Amino acid sequence: MHPKGRLVQSVSLDLRCDFGSYRGMTEKLLIVLTGAGISAESGLKTFRDHNGLWENHRVEDVASPEGFRRDPRLVQDFYNARRAQLLSPEVRPNAGHEALVRLEREWPGEFLLVTQNVDNLHERAGNQRLLHMHGELLKARCLRTHAVHEWTDPILPDTRCPCCRRSGTLRPHIVWFGEMPLEMPRVYGLLARCDVFLAIGTSGQVYPAAGFVEAVPETARTVELNLEASAVSSAFGEHLHGPAGRIVPAFVDQLLENLRQS
Ligand SMILES: [Zn+2]
Repeated sequence: MHPKGRLVQSVSLDLRCDFGSYRGMTEKLLIVLTGAGISAESGLKTFRDHNGLWENHRVEDVASPEGFRRDPRLVQDFYNARRAQLLSPEVRPNAGHEALVRLEREWPGEFLLVTQNVDNLHERAGNQRLLHMHGELLKARCLRTHAVHEWTDPILPDTRCPCCRRSGTLRPHIVWFGEMPLEMPRVYGLLARCDVFLAIGTSGQVYPAAGFVEAVPETARTVELNLEASAVSSAFGEHLHGPAGRIVPAFVDQLLENLRQS
């Protein structure tokens, strides 16, 4: 067992996780948390650039309830563009997404994938036990009825909501800063009895997701798979560093191979 906080420095792919002890985990609960890092290799621009701007907008202007009240058109246009980008043919699931489909299909115990991503690449790859804690780009929510609608078109000032037939009542089904992420009681309930927790491509800077690793039992195996050490890296027992498209398939294949041998 690795002491918590051990950091495996790896330039090339280094599978120094203790795979042997995944044997016998046939009834166990596996929770996978993913963030922007797993979508970066799918042709999706990550929202946040090095200046902290999102596509040249301040985060609070395009990702807060106050920003939406101030300038709904700007916010709708921002998400209209994100939605169109997600639907463009060059954006596809990558090897990291595909590995998580194999993991869900072959993991012998319970499985849940919690994603901070608002794209639909996990479901397009084929994951089914999936929860979008920060909402979904391809859904819109009615401000009058709170109904959530599948949505692929731009939301324009004259776009009518399917439920109330009014214009101006739809908003992106996205959790903005200052809003509560979705299904948190359910997620924390599962984290409390989680046996294996993987965090993939997540910076560890956005709470509550960054605190999930602290919500699992002391006995849980915790593995961080990320391009580099995240802000909460020291809370994980094991680490793999590199691009998600490379380290996630290698990790998953090794883990499943060990399970098959057990
Ligand atoms: Zn409506």
